[in-house]
Amino acid sequence: MRLHVCLFCTVLVISGGVISLGQGGSENRPSSATPQISARAREIARRAIVIDTHADTPQWMVDGAYDFTHPSNTQMVTLSRAHQGGLKAEFFSVWTEPSYVGHFEERTLDLIDSVRRQTERHPQQIAMASTAADIRRLAAEGRFAALMGVEGGHAINDDLAVLRDYYRLGVRYMTLTWSNTNDWADSSGDINDPKVQHHNGLTDFGRQVVAEMNRIGMIVDISHVADKTFWDAIATTKAPVIASHSAARALTNVPRDMTDDMLRAVAKNGGVVQVNFYSAFVSQQSADASKALSAEEKKAIDPVIAEWKNDWVHGYPHIDEAQRQFAAEHLKRPPFSALIDHFDHIIKVAGIDHVGLGSDWDGIDSAPEGMDSCADVPRIIQGLLDRGYSEPQIRKVLGENTLRVMIEVERVARELQRESDSVERANSGPPDHSHK
Ligand SMILES: [Zn+2]
Repeated sequence: MRLHVCLFCTVLVISGGVISLGQGGSENRPSSATPQISARAREIARRAIVIDTHADTPQWMVDGAYDFTHPSNTQMVTLSRAHQGGLKAEFFSVWTEPSYVGHFEERTLDLIDSVRRQTERHPQQIAMASTAADIRRLAAEGRFAALMGVEGGHAINDDLAVLRDYYRLGVRYMTLTWSNTNDWADSSGDINDPKVQHHNGLTDFGRQVVAEMNRIGMIVDISHVADKTFWDAIATTKAPVIASHSAARALTNVPRDMTDDMLRAVAKNGGVVQVNFYSAFVSQQSADASKALSAEEKKAIDPVIAEWKNDWVHGYPHIDEAQRQFAAEHLKRPPFSALIDHFDHIIKVAGIDHVGLGSDWDGIDSAPEGMDSCADVPRIIQGLLDRGYSEPQIRKVLGENTLRVMIEVERVARELQRESDSVERANSGPPDHSHK
């Protein structure tokens, strides 16, 4: 989720620039560096378990009466585009605007409902998946696997029971923060804002949240967190973590991306960094251009926000459209190679077992040339083939690494639950008759 709109304070914080997708104009035409997709790349996409760990599509499902299976949808993640690109599973992001204070759970439940409703309407084509085994089974059946991740720990309202409820409804990861610092974890999005009360990483309760996520089997996601929160989470977790949608800071120096030390720490932890496709996270030029235009963008978008501030539910698509429009007129897409550079770098630093796909589709309005939607997954395969990676290596990146983390998180949860059950049994113990 890129949109940073605080409706009640009408402040727009821009984490990067926006560029329209697939719009005309010579500057937006793919350059010759964008590889054509070979039959081999398409075949790998068709056979592999391709999993993407972050798409903001539910914002449309809940607000725009969007149907995932409808052929004329313009979203980046749709069923027909998933079939074209070989995408087998998507972690749909459940993101609640932080200014919804007092309504975090309500909005989160609406978003969860919107994803589940898609699977109820079209059970032959799409189904909920809760485990790695579910994803493999659904892929074999030719059905699309829908998963969910909560984006932003503020959604649990400082209550572990709410965290457990989200798990029971199917949520399988949670980013400890979004762009806002919450009551128990610092975010990279406001770490330099002196008006925000910070905690120097995770609080004691934040550590309890991580421990409870380990125990119930919800993946700890460190995308969006402040650097100190990252290190506290790594020191606390007993299971592998993910960075569901982050890229490499050595190539693009923005706080949302990860340093090489962080990449190595995730590798040591057994986790996966899923590469974000957002232009301003994978291209320094885009990051700089978008920063330079941020005041101008604010001026263009603020009136749209003002128009919808009392009806956020219906306003989201309009605000998104205004941002795309602004970008179409002002910003240039980075070359496709910028994205592959990030895959390549993270593979070199963390290893082939620790990289995956974390597009941020439908939450971004700009991606490198040739990456317009989930139909373009084979182009990433082509980019990796062209850099000498083998099919087994590419399959790890496409989904096998994410499956491995899920299996390990499920195993650690079973183990921790056995331990906590036996502690509870010991504490409740047999009745004590000694006083008799
Ligand atoms: Zn995000």
